[in-house]
Amino acid sequence: MTSPAVILPGATLGVLGGGQLGRMFTVAAQTMGYRVVVMDPDPGSPAGALADIHIKADYRDAASLLYMGGLCDAVTTEFENVPATSLEMLAGHCFVAPSPRAVATAQDRLLEKTRAREAGCITAPFANIEDEGFLVHAWSTLEGPALLKTRRLGYDGKGQARVNTLDELVEAYERMGRVPCLLEGLLALDKEVSVVLARNGQGQIAFYPVAENQHRGGILDITIAPARITEAVAEQARSMAAHIVDELDYVGVMAVEFFLLQDGSLVFNEMAPRPHNSGHYTLDACLSDQFQQQVRALCGLPLADTRQLSPAVMVNILGNIWQPVPAWDRLLAHPGVQLHLYGKHEARPGRKMGHYTCLSPNLDDALALAMTTRCELGIGCETGH
Ligand code: AMP
Repeated sequence: MTSPAVILPGATLGVLGGGQLGRMFTVAAQTMGYRVVVMDPDPGSPAGALADIHIKADYRDAASLLYMGGLCDAVTTEFENVPATSLEMLAGHCFVAPSPRAVATAQDRLLEKTRAREAGCITAPFANIEDEGFLVHAWSTLEGPALLKTRRLGYDGKGQARVNTLDELVEAYERMGRVPCLLEGLLALDKEVSVVLARNGQGQIAFYPVAENQHRGGILDITIAPARITEAVAEQARSMAAHIVDELDYVGVMAVEFFLLQDGSLVFNEMAPRPHNSGHYTLDACLSDQFQQQVRALCGLPLADTRQLSPAVMVNILGNIWQPVPAWDRLLAHPGVQLHLYGKHEARPGRKMGHYTCLSPNLDDALALAMTTRCELGIGCETGH
């Protein structure tokens, strides 16, 4: 369905996916006076626990999609691997944003990199690997250490392997299950940064300050906001991200991840068609947060002011530190810390259980607080860089 003029509080919004992103969307929407329907098969889903209605069904279940479409004025998604066909089915009954086409683009590394290049971005050199027959040619075009990445369903560093020889490439491809992949040239990274933005149906775009991301074991560890980059690089990142969302006629919140290389160039890595872990700092540090913007963009409302009120460092809390329970008393003894736990019942290594934001008038002090508290909680005692 095409976008209605505006969807005002009192209406019902739906979200496909009931993880932490869906939960924070639910809070934002309910705070603004909307009712929220969550679809997630997990009865213990973090968002389902807060929703007005939790439809516990598989994302492909036609009857449940029909039920959801009938209840909702508009539906969005909290994860990019939602079947595009489900979004299309819903779109027959209510307004859906982002569009199935935009979500399908972000689901496939080949499509998203091709789109990004069309929008004027530089990407890492890459070669498509559709099947075994493509391996030798792909290796010869890149010549050198490279990363093999599955085209679909990769996240948090999963579905990728570093390869140094053609033999290693062949082995890694077997291990990945011979699914379509990209072979990507290994770049000399200086920093990783992300642009979280919202775009509404009228084409208005609101950017949050560019954030700097550090990973451990392939999973986001901390986000430093604002990123420690020049204004010229920040402007380049915003401008590239704007070209991508304009090109897709995108409606919703999007995160665009870039690599800043040691030679100073900015390279597109990937896009997430939803709020993003690197935008969680906006909950505590900005006038409006990324989830309120998701509601506004979905509802055709003017976007809110994204001004950052305080430097911030966000720290992810993974299930690894439940031994048996983290020392929340020590963490909460720091007045500059804002804690967010997602209501997940079972802590598992690598599972995102929550995050906290360290706030201080000075970014160096916020970073120091992040490092002290990470050490106290048992996340790690390295000093950051
Ligand atoms: P991705 O799943 O594409 O975000 O990759 C996960 C992580 O691997 C990134 O956050 C980078 O730290 C690293 N990485 C990915 N692609 C490259 C590349 N082409 N060159 C160097 N490092 C990369």
